[in-house]
Amino acid sequence: MLIAGNWKMFKGPADAGAFCRALREADLGSVDVVVCPPYVSLAEAVQALAGTEIGVAAQNVHWAAEGAFTGEISAPMLRELGVYGTIVGHSERRQYFGETDETVVCRVNAALEHGLHVVACVGETEAEREAGQTEAVLRRQVGAIAEGVSETDELVIAYEPVWAIGTGKTATPQMAQEAHAVVKSILDVPVLYGGSVKPENAAELASQPDVDGALVGGASLDVDSFATICREASHS
Ligand code: PEP
Repeated sequence: MLIAGNWKMFKGPADAGAFCRALREADLGSVDVVVCPPYVSLAEAVQALAGTEIGVAAQNVHWAAEGAFTGEISAPMLRELGVYGTIVGHSERRQYFGETDETVVCRVNAALEHGLHVVACVGETEAEREAGQTEAVLRRQVGAIAEGVSETDELVIAYEPVWAIGTGKTATPQMAQEAHAVVKSILDVPVLYGGSVKPENAAELASQPDVDGALVGGASLDVDSFATICREASHS
């Protein structure tokens, strides 16, 4: 069971350091835990969590090792900082920054080749769900990754229905289970659920047979709330 906290564009280095020092002391149950700070706070988080089992991951990575790609960060640069992994293809990247299934595959491959663990995000929009296209969307998004990536040992998929991200609307445990089963029928890797996970719903979501953990946004920004989610998921 893996619980990953996606901080999005919150917490600069000072806040990140304070959060991570508090997280070291928190009771996180028996799950694997990863935090994903913004790039500028990664070094601070790595330092503050040194000697613990809590991993630090980035929120994105470029496919080239270096080059004329203004504003991008490469996998070797993340490795040099001591970063353990990265999120790729988050719906906010797809929605606001033009990420496509193709660029997601390029980023996943580069990250894996350079020894980073990867959480690759997939999920349908509200309109797609209402139009009955959830399975087709998952087949397209996960299929692109399954076809384009050769080794999957360090790969995890996060099923994050776009309509549930940051909205307070959560997929029911049954909806999550169904979607996760579709993902696993295409690619046999662990699947995290993401979308308004909070202390109150973490245990029930985590108890579904094909739910292998959670990618938590808003509720990961507070140490108590994040630690409670970790403990709740530990019981499953
Ligand atoms: C996310 O950012 O991946 C996410 C799931 O956000 P939230 O938990 O806030 O819905």
